[in-house]
Amino acid sequence: MARLGSCGSSAISNAAEKDAVAIAEAGSLLALKRRARKINRILADKYPYAHAELDFRNPFELVVATVLSAQTTDVLVNQVTKILFARYPDARALAEADPAELESILQPTGFFRAKARNVLALSTRLVDEYDGEVPGRLEDLVTLPGVGRKTANVVLGNAFGVPGITVDTHFGRLARRFGWTASDDPVKIEFDVAELFEPRDWTMLSHRVVFHGRRICHAKKPACGACPVASLCPSYGDGETDPVKAAKLLKYELAPGNEALLEKLLAETHRAAEIRMESQRRPG
Ligand code: SF4
Repeated sequence: MARLGSCGSSAISNAAEKDAVAIAEAGSLLALKRRARKINRILADKYPYAHAELDFRNPFELVVATVLSAQTTDVLVNQVTKILFARYPDARALAEADPAELESILQPTGFFRAKARNVLALSTRLVDEYDGEVPGRLEDLVTLPGVGRKTANVVLGNAFGVPGITVDTHFGRLARRFGWTASDDPVKIEFDVAELFEPRDWTMLSHRVVFHGRRICHAKKPACGACPVASLCPSYGDGETDPVKAAKLLKYELAPGNEALLEKLLAETHRAAEIRMESQRRPG
């Protein structure tokens, strides 16, 4: 039988080391996946009423609303799109809009000149190339003016039922805090997180994580002491850990004094978008 020389034994030990590293990596990926899925289940229990916070009735309204949502709040976009779609109900009408009138409607959303240009160009492309309809494929959507991967995934997930991970500023921040990614790049984050979940969970996961980011895990002062995933979060302690002080940092329906709204949302999850709109219309 041939005997291994020193080269042979060092090749074996290199291979063994590589195997050990691969096994350790697979083990830590499995642990990360398990933890991530547990976090998703807890967030699903916490926010059974999570949904897209932009109002829309069809893919066209959603793609336009998402383009307008850059650098502003969904609440403001919802106010503006109500007026916009009453005046221009579809791509054909919007493609023929007077640019000055369009700018004045979009003004409250900020960057209104660029946004007016984008939605005009977007509507024109839809009319010229897609018979006025929004295409339901990522590769087509990302070629539309003003539409990047984030917007495309929002539209696919919410208007076409195609699973998509939507990486906005909240999702990116929380994915890093949860240890799901180390990246700041939205596309890399999307791919890192996609590894951890089944595609059927991607769209709702996106809503839940964004809801959590807006209500509890804030950018500046996360309310760790009032967080339902604190025991699973590697970033616990980045924010306020005192439960009483943390509870005061909560927002929207979780904010102190908003118990009635929370109760209503929990009792009527199917009407969550409507209840939210009603609550935003109420003065104060
Ligand atoms: S424990 Fe703190 S950092 Fe982690 S998700 Fe909760 S609020 Fe965010």
